[in-house]
Order: sequence, then structure tokens, then C-alpha cells
Amino acid sequence: MNKNKNKKDKWIKLICGASNEDIVAIEDLCAIYTAAGVDYIDVAAEESIVNAAKKGIEWAQKIYNNSPGLMISISDGNDIHFRKAKFDPLRCPSNCSRPCEKVCPTFAIDISGIKESKCYGCGRCINSCPLNLISEYEYNLSKYDLATTLQKTKPNAVEIHTRINRLDSFTKVVSILKSSETKLDKISISCGLNQSFKKLQEPEDLLKALWERYDILEELNIPLIWQLDGRPMSGDLAPTTSRDTVKLFEKIGSDLPPGLIQLAGGTNEKTHEFLKSNNLPDGIAFGSAARKIMQPLIEFAHTNNKRLYEYPERMALAIKKAQKFLEPWKSKSVK
Ligand code: SF4
Ligand code: SF4
Repeated sequence: MNKNKNKKDKWIKLICGASNEDIVAIEDLCAIYTAAGVDYIDVAAEESIVNAAKKGIEWAQKIYNNSPGLMISISDGNDIHFRKAKFDPLRCPSNCSRPCEKVCPTFAIDISGIKESKCYGCGRCINSCPLNLISEYEYNLSKYDLATTLQKTKPNAVEIHTRINRLDSFTKVVSILKSSETKLDKISISCGLNQSFKKLQEPEDLLKALWERYDILEELNIPLIWQLDGRPMSGDLAPTTSRDTVKLFEKIGSDLPPGLIQLAGGTNEKTHEFLKSNNLPDGIAFGSAARKIMQPLIEFAHTNNKRLYEYPERMALAIKKAQKFLEPWKSKSVK
């Protein structure tokens, strides 16, 4: 952790994306946000991705004296964080104004379709196509061999994506974690109200599910993080998307099991404004919003076959942007 960190700073995590495999972008993102002072970085559960993240962190560590922990995201079942989008470009009419391309935060779409490694499954393009040509498919790197993935990646922490009604498979994942004997600093549990069942699932059901998971995890004696997903993987970057996250936190935040409370799902530069200053969570996780502001800079470097940190002036600009983005969660404005 950053030794110079003021105690009043809030915990901040960068989410690179559970199915994001854009290795060069991940390396740059990790360098930028390590320099800007995040506490943890969450990446897909795959060795080459973890190695890219480590490289980016190492670059920034030497200069900025910050050492964020590395977390890998796994899931106890089907989960929209573990998906990608696809379409057949041959079916697109030549006069289409290509709204799919315009909404993609990672510039994954061009005339040849969707570049799988650059797509992290945010879902924005799916609803943008007037002809409904875009579909999603499951893409879960950790699903089939979690124990091997843990051995190869040796993360500092693991995030388990779960759903209210998946206690059995959650229990199985925890037992694999336990038998793998991976030394973890933290376990994060990411859960929200499932959009498709929203009418049937109430915040109270979520609370009950999280306490059930606490009962399973307690014996591991590893600090826990409760990540409340207000709007799971909506891909919607509008400022007001934060409201769902804030509402969920205000409803159940004070009744959650012991551990750190972190907001995610629709979090962005406006989230801090929507919170009451006397009721703030312990931390925040930023995904799409944090990545999107960096994408043009990163793309510039990558089209020249370089890392952004090979362009010192542009890298300094990226770090400044990241610091500004994180500023509300730093001590001077969190009273
Ligand atoms: S908009 Fe989202 S889901 Fe669609 S291609 Fe881009 S990253 Fe993938
Ligand atoms: S919006 Fe639909 S039809 Fe148009 S380019 Fe994209 S996928 Fe093809």
C-alpha cells in the first residue's frame, strides 16, 4: 500500500474487466492508475493478463511509491461480467451509420466486427444496433480450472461474483479456494440485484444472501470486501447510473456483515456527489468510467506499437486525468 496515504482516504479499486484481455491496454491502465494512487486493481483470471497488470504496476511503483494489490475476478456461475459481444459484419447494411462503433468504450468494433480481446462485455453495443445483429456469449476464463488459475496467477486477492440464489456453487468455489492454499490478503464478494429478477429480488434478499456467504467465509479468517453492484454491468456511462448503487448502499449498507463496503456497478465521476457526506462507503470501484477517459490516449500509443508510458508527456496527462477522476475519494474532499 501507499505508505504516504492519508488515513482518511477511501479505498479505491480499478476494475480492468473480468473478461477484458486487451493486454497492452491493461498494462497502461495499471501503470496510470497505480501512479494515481488506487489501492487495488481487479483483472481477469488469466496468467498473461495478470503478468501485463504486474508490468504496468511495476513501472509506476518505482516512480510513484504506490503498490496496489492485484485481484482476480472469478464467478460461481453464469455472470454478465464474464461475457463478450459478437456480430457478423457481412450482415450489416453498407449505409448503417454504425452506432455500435460509436458507443464502444474500448474501440473494439470496426468494419471487420468485434475484436474479441478488446471487448469486455459491457453490453453497450448490444442495444445500439437497429437491426439487433449483436448478441452476447459467455466468456469465463476461470470457470473450468480455478485451482490451476490460482496457482499460476498468485493474486493478492480474489473477487467472487455471485448471485442471490447460488449459495451451493458459491460454497464450492470457496472450498476450491481453501484447498488451493493460496495466500490471500482479501476476498471480495460482488453481488447485486439481478436485473432480470429485479421485481422478485429485494435488497433484504441480497442482505440475507451476503450474511449466508459471510457464514461460509468467516472460518477462513481473511478480511472481506462487500462489493455492492447497484447496476450490474449495464455499460451505461451516464452520470445518473450511480443512483442505483447509492440507493442500494443507503438501504442495506449499515446492515452488511463485517468487512469493507465498496460501491460498484454504474459508479463514475458523479457517484461522490450523490452520497450523503455523513454516510460514505469504505471504498469505491471504478470500471468503464475510469477506462473510458483513458482510451483515446492509450489507443494513440498502441496504434504506434508503443505503451503510453513510452510517451512521457501523454503519460503525465493521463495520470493527471486519473488523479482528477479519483480526487473526490482522496482525503482532502472526504471529510
Ligand atoms: S460496447 Fe462493450 S460489449 Fe460491445 S464490443 Fe465494446 S466492450 Fe464489447
Ligand atoms: S449497428 Fe448493427 S448493423 Fe450497424 S454496423 Fe453495428 S452491428 Fe452492423
